[in-house]
Amino acid sequence: RDLHSFPTRRSSDLEEAEAHRAEVQRFADRFSGYYLPVIAGVAALTFLIRHDPLATTAVLVVACSCSIALATPIAMLASIGASARRGLLIKGGKYLEALARADVLLIDKTGTLTLGRPEITDIVPVSKLSRSELLTLAASAERFSEHPLAEAVRVAAEQEDLPFQEVKDFEAVPGMGIRANVNGSFLVVGNRRLVPEAGAFAAELEEEGKTLLFVSRNGELAGVLAAADTLRPEVPAALDQVRNLGIKRIELLTGDNERVASALAQRLGVEFRANLLPGHKIGAVRAYQAEGHRVVMVGDGVNDAPALAQADIGIAMGAAGSDIAIEAAHVALMREDWLLVPEVFRIARRTLGVVKMNLVFTALYNVVGLALAALGFLPPILAAAAQSLPDLGILGNSARLLRQR
Ligand code: ADP
Ligand code: MG
Repeated sequence: RDLHSFPTRRSSDLEEAEAHRAEVQRFADRFSGYYLPVIAGVAALTFLIRHDPLATTAVLVVACSCSIALATPIAMLASIGASARRGLLIKGGKYLEALARADVLLIDKTGTLTLGRPEITDIVPVSKLSRSELLTLAASAERFSEHPLAEAVRVAAEQEDLPFQEVKDFEAVPGMGIRANVNGSFLVVGNRRLVPEAGAFAAELEEEGKTLLFVSRNGELAGVLAAADTLRPEVPAALDQVRNLGIKRIELLTGDNERVASALAQRLGVEFRANLLPGHKIGAVRAYQAEGHRVVMVGDGVNDAPALAQADIGIAMGAAGSDIAIEAAHVALMREDWLLVPEVFRIARRTLGVVKMNLVFTALYNVVGLALAALGFLPPILAAAAQSLPDLGILGNSARLLRQR
């Protein structure tokens, strides 16, 4: 996927852009509101006390600086531009600021932590059925599902050259599985909750950290397929970096079962919540927010979109994820590289550091300039020249963000 397929901005987006102003930007806007009366006051006092029209003019000229207004957007722009070139799309300065202050990281499992290309490892029919009969039934039922697990089942059937059977009344049950009519039989494929007749069948496969797809035909258990997904290789290192950045709370959110989740969570040293329906993920985000946390959520799928939008910063696995997730998120990774996640935290902090430096520098410069002008040490011509210096300082300081590593 290239950068051009990123959703384009539409006309009403001007208002949205307004709403997306960073808090520091709003601080600068408020500051500008006070600035004019203060300068007018200083100029008036200079004139009243010192009766010096030149010094008064110098005050007005040196104060005529636009650097306060530039301090934030220039830095944000530099960072967002530099990030885009490296495959990190950030949809606004507001999110850089929120990222710099985030303290909770929530992560979807399938497709986000894992490659999202599971493979069928075991095929276990009950009594009467054969292995290939079970696989044929499951693959036919999964024929129209978009879920990565469904794809795994179809691939397994194709590898054995099994034919697909006729499918009617296909229905997806989000976070649980699918139902369909295959060759006149009523088939359900999904987790234990969707297939209660599974009972404790195949618990030993689950202990191995595999995702189980139970197959039920006309209300009777027909067998089980086990799928295993591969962890993205760079995830452990990326999570270590995130932890070192001071993000203490990292939690895995998944619709998969308890054992798969716990095996993976233990390996990564994070907490987890399993058996979540898509709606529960957004609930987890809201619960943290209600406790006053700033929440970052990383996800890839259609079912993650609401939680991505609800989070203070939603990060979509752009290159691997769904368009809906990219649209809903605030940051999209256009390269399949988890190390971009700690990277975006670092970029955010660096950017906010530069913004603060810009603001302090401008404020100090203006105070000194005003004092010199009011006291008559700064003739208007020099004041005019001096007035553009902080802009250059801010440009120079912000340009550092263009050369990120
Ligand atoms: P995650 O939150 O890890 O991305 P999902 O919410 O997409 O996972 O799915 C949760 C669980 O629902 C899966 O682990 C699987 O047990 C079951 N499931 C979902 N879709 C299907 C399907 N098409 N076929 C079989 N099982 C499915
Ligand atoms: Mg997912």
